[in-house]
Amino acid sequence: MNFTKELNTAIDAVKKASRICRCISETSSKVSSVEKDDHSPVSIADLASQAVITCTLLEDFPDDPIVGEEEAGTLQKHQNLAQKVLQLASRETRIIKLDELLENIEYGSRPFDPVKRFWAVDPIDGTKGFLRGDQYAVALALLNQGQVILGVLGCPNMPVDSNTSNHMGALVYAVKNQGAFIMPLEGNQSRQVSVDSVTDVRMARFCESVEKNHASHEQHQKIAESLGIMAAPCRMDSQVKYAALANGEASIYLRLPRTKHYREKIWDHAAGSIIVEEAGGKVTDFNGKPLQFNLGKKLENNIGIVATNKSLHDQVLDAIAHAI
Ligand code: AMP
Ligand code: MG
Repeated sequence: MNFTKELNTAIDAVKKASRICRCISETSSKVSSVEKDDHSPVSIADLASQAVITCTLLEDFPDDPIVGEEEAGTLQKHQNLAQKVLQLASRETRIIKLDELLENIEYGSRPFDPVKRFWAVDPIDGTKGFLRGDQYAVALALLNQGQVILGVLGCPNMPVDSNTSNHMGALVYAVKNQGAFIMPLEGNQSRQVSVDSVTDVRMARFCESVEKNHASHEQHQKIAESLGIMAAPCRMDSQVKYAALANGEASIYLRLPRTKHYREKIWDHAAGSIIVEEAGGKVTDFNGKPLQFNLGKKLENNIGIVATNKSLHDQVLDAIAHAI
């Protein structure tokens, strides 16, 4: 199977959702947001984005399960946001009533079988980055039997060509065994991307989260020092880090959790990991284990994330084993 229909629908869904996110961040001086029970922020754009992606996917694949980060309960709790979210979602879909909006968001919370076919959606990965005006990604992946089949990242604040910043907004995607590609968010011309060819680890550039609570910057620094990496880390929110690696703009992405109990969410890594692998890179956890996507909403059997251009992978894992 070449998954052409799935890819086209996924790209369409991510483009629509990215347009909403970009439009709201360009037109509002302060985007409305509230705090979820886990104290992380959720904005009207996150909720509209999830509704738009769900609605677009279900038009073409009405029987597919979808797992999304956001819940309709947020809007039931904060009813003052509902009209704004509805207005945003109706720009890109045929959702016009509040109950249709809630239904589409809620679809992402239904039970699913993680060993069968399903979609994983992070409507805005890196909401904190989005609210700061920094990097964020609209992330969508298709999984089947625990394997990521395709991944699409809409990255409205990432340039398509890092040498010229005038084409702001990139869409990066990959299908299993078909390579990884980048194109402008508002365009159709794609080009294949590949990881960089750095083999001397001292020359490697590494990236990590902006948020100190999401990963241990101190441990990353220890690992980088032990490898002799000179350059300062590049801090970016969201799966844009995976996109940067796939596009040869960084050689290593480290994500060591602050506490060993934290388990990563599948929607934070499914799209990004296939994009890096299809660009020639490698993605494992901190023990070198492949990411195991067939256990539910979380990567229950993995701790942390290491993504590299592949050539440097073993060296980085060795350094981690010695440094922590
Ligand atoms: P990043 O911008 O790369 O740090 O990734 C943003 C993602 O971090 C969000 O989508 C959250 O799901 C995830 N996240 C939230 N809390 C934590 C945590 N304590 N450790 C690791 N990741 C987290
Ligand atoms: Mg996320």
